[in-house]
Amino acid sequence: MFFDTHTHLFDERFRDDLSAVLDRAQVAGVTRMLCLGIDRASNHATVALAQSHSTIWAAVGLHPNYLHNVQPGDWDDVVRLAQNEPRVVAIGETGLDRYWHDTPWSDQETYFQYHLELARRLNKPVAIHCRDAAADVVRIVREHYERYGPLRGIMHAYSGDAETARQCWEMGLHISFAGMVTYPKATGLRQVLQQIPLDKLLLETDSPYLPPQAVRGQRNEPAFLVHTARLVASLRNLSLEQLAEITTRNACNLFGLS
Ligand SMILES: [Zn+2]
Repeated sequence: MFFDTHTHLFDERFRDDLSAVLDRAQVAGVTRMLCLGIDRASNHATVALAQSHSTIWAAVGLHPNYLHNVQPGDWDDVVRLAQNEPRVVAIGETGLDRYWHDTPWSDQETYFQYHLELARRLNKPVAIHCRDAAADVVRIVREHYERYGPLRGIMHAYSGDAETARQCWEMGLHISFAGMVTYPKATGLRQVLQQIPLDKLLLETDSPYLPPQAVRGQRNEPAFLVHTARLVASLRNLSLEQLAEITTRNACNLFGLS
């Protein structure tokens, strides 16, 4: 039984067939999912999904690539949902992104700090997006680590190098792998994957994005986690069942679920 630790099931691409998507996930053995909001509207949609489906839990945050749309009160709304909604088990999606340029960099750093502080205060893990910004993410995480101690959280859809991964897991973070690790050119990422301590390893789809190689070009969905899981199991010399047990235990411990 797998835990898909990163989905965006509120996306309009799931509007017409979400119940079929969730049925296929069950059949595939992907029995639990975390859905992460990216802005005020999707945070509420995410919480609503988690309230109406026992297999879905919620994370709330303001994604770095959408901060230019943030309105007064949006951050307070994140804080209110994170504090008051029992189905919210993580903070995010947050992080830093130097690939897209819509959001001013200073806003990205400011909101990343807000999310780290909120996660610390509420003792919930934080979900971190990092694109072309590894040095900046490590710098800011390290500032928090040196002030407050180990961080609970996830480097989501990890695509960085082994040294960055090591620094992240040494500061307490989990490293989560998405479909990118199955791409033919991802030789370096597969080598990184082989070095991750098993108690820090997580799996995700990032649905509807990042479909694994076997379904590349399609809309991604939680059932497709098994394509990534098969490859990860073989790279780590584990059975699919062993990998499921390890990564689901990691996710449940992190999110405070039994
Ligand atoms: Zn995401």
